[in-house]
Amino acid sequence: MHTADSERYNKLDYVRCGKSGLKLPPLSLGLWHNFGQEDDYEKSKKIVLTAFDNGITHFDLANNYGPPPGAAEQRFGKILREELGRYRDEIVVSTKAGHPMWDGPYGNWGSKKHLKASLDQSLERLGLDYVDIFYTHRPDPETPIEETIQAVSDSVKAGKALYPGISKYKIEGTVKALELFEELGTPLLVHQINYSMLDRTPENLRLWEILKAKGKGAVVFSPLAQGLLTDKYLNGIPEGSRAAREGTFLSRDKITPELLEKIKKLNKLARQRSQTLAQMALQWATRDDCVCSAIVGASRPEQILDSLKFKKAEPFSDEELNKIENILSD
Ligand code: NDP
Repeated sequence: MHTADSERYNKLDYVRCGKSGLKLPPLSLGLWHNFGQEDDYEKSKKIVLTAFDNGITHFDLANNYGPPPGAAEQRFGKILREELGRYRDEIVVSTKAGHPMWDGPYGNWGSKKHLKASLDQSLERLGLDYVDIFYTHRPDPETPIEETIQAVSDSVKAGKALYPGISKYKIEGTVKALELFEELGTPLLVHQINYSMLDRTPENLRLWEILKAKGKGAVVFSPLAQGLLTDKYLNGIPEGSRAAREGTFLSRDKITPELLEKIKKLNKLARQRSQTLAQMALQWATRDDCVCSAIVGASRPEQILDSLKFKKAEPFSDEELNKIENILSD
């Protein structure tokens, strides 16, 4: 059993998620990658323990994280049981359902049939009685939103999740979900959405405004654009990086010369600000106070330590924000 660093709560300022009772660390750890069956177990364990020892209390999973689907929950469950069991009440575990998980018509999307069975399976793999946040992982264009939201709400009422979440919902779905959760007496906690300098979806949707008006928080995923917004690809594609690995969503051909040019300019600006590009990207993605946490992935514990320092830098000046806009729009 792990003995956690006694200084872990002196390292970060926790951020309230909207007007809820829950505070989250400014950086959360996502287990989409590097927690599959073929990944080195000791390394996965070290990543989780490094995060926890440095104040990261929030771990983001989904039913299908692996590969194979389910493997990440199983592995995290083992780490929790063997290393962090005594700290369960200090940890926020999130999981989701809605992407392909098992064969047949009930293994995917947003039906009550899928969501209930999937959460039960997740709890079993994690070895938990409840998760802290249960998300509908994506809007389902065919299932009535009323059914999906009811299913997530039911999981809260059944004590299998403490808070409901939605992920990747656009405006209309977000507004409707907010209303439904309210009516059902299980107010939405959080919206989880992609956001980085290379993906401005929430801004284009004016999502922050809508969430803030309702007192809701957001957590952003892939704030480093899967590693593109770091210094790792400046001189080619390093072995072992996500772009070099088969079967990831970051293919080599996404790293175009034009993109690389922008990344180099962003890296230069980050250096002028005495921070790494990863730190600057995280600071940028969390600059609106709607965003209570950035969910990062990590293939090495050192990356977490580097990323965590993003809170140490000076806030952006208007001039720097303009510089970033100019680089991105070049
Ligand atoms: P990031 O944008 O944080 O990318 C993570 C990758 O960036 C790492 O694997 C690593 O790449 C690299 N990296 C991380 N920190 C550093 C650093 N300090 N210096 C240099 N490189 C660094 O996020 P992910 O795409 O991994 O997504 C994060 C989490 O968000 C997921 O694990 C998941 O929990 C959640 N998510 C949710 C989705 C949803 O639909 N709701 C969809 C996608 C993600 P390398 O491996 O090459 O070393």
